Amino acid sequence: MNADYLELTNLTVSFDGFVAVDRVNMSVLPGDLRFLIGPNGAGKTTLIDAVSGLVPATGSARWAGEDLVGRKVHRIARLGVGRTFQTATVFEELTVTQNLDIAAGARRGVLTLARRRTRVPEVVVKAMETIGLTDLAEVPAGTLSHGQKQWLEIGMLLVQDARLLMLDEPVAGMSAEEKDETGRLLRRIAADADLTVVVVEHDMDFMRAFATSVTVLHAGKVLAEGSVEQVQADPRVQEVYLGP
Ligand code: ADP
Repeated sequence: MNADYLELTNLTVSFDGFVAVDRVNMSVLPGDLRFLIGPNGAGKTTLIDAVSGLVPATGSARWAGEDLVGRKVHRIARLGVGRTFQTATVFEELTVTQNLDIAAGARRGVLTLARRRTRVPEVVVKAMETIGLTDLAEVPAGTLSHGQKQWLEIGMLLVQDARLLMLDEPVAGMSAEEKDETGRLLRRIAADADLTVVVVEHDMDFMRAFATSVTVLHAGKVLAEGSVEQVQADPRVQEVYLGP
């Protein structure tokens, strides 16, 4: 079996007795563009925090043949787990190329100085093409639009060989065109590169347009799972979103 398969079993996160993620079972396959939706406070961010090692959890989160629960953040990252936050964290003064180069260097475990190179590594060139920023290669990241910064951050995960991408509200604050572009980018990453992608999102139109499958969380628990059509038709999901 392909080991690039995320399988959560009874994943649970508690904060001082408050259960934010409650015995979640969820599997995501390579090529899948899984949307994790649910009302505010449902536990979506906490769930991806737990998988990336940022908060302690119980249960298991199997990925690449290992259980991520109890592992350190850097070890989890080395297993190819990449994660973005709602606010993109790129080096604003450095160019797009330099940002990607530093991320690629971090992966190699060497200190790459942010200097102009005569030759840009192939992995950087490829990532830049994937995220559609080739024309902006020499532009300081600080001058990019909000959307472009998010794409750069995704590129920084790709050059680090991330094969499981977990994105926290990637299209919040984006224009309609940028949302569309982001959806197509995520589709390409999932379908063409066969990566496993989990997207936490509030934007229902974006979810409808691009999700290949959906998990609905409510009060820390999985309320429903399936195709967009299946979860939308689920009365429990409608109740959570629209009220009884
Ligand atoms: P969502 O991403 O679905 O909006 P979160 O995962 O951010 O939900 O939060 C789930 C619940 O856990 C919320 O009630 C939130 O207040 C609580 N929570 C999140 N992080 C912490 C923390 N570090 N300490 C205490 N409670 C937290």
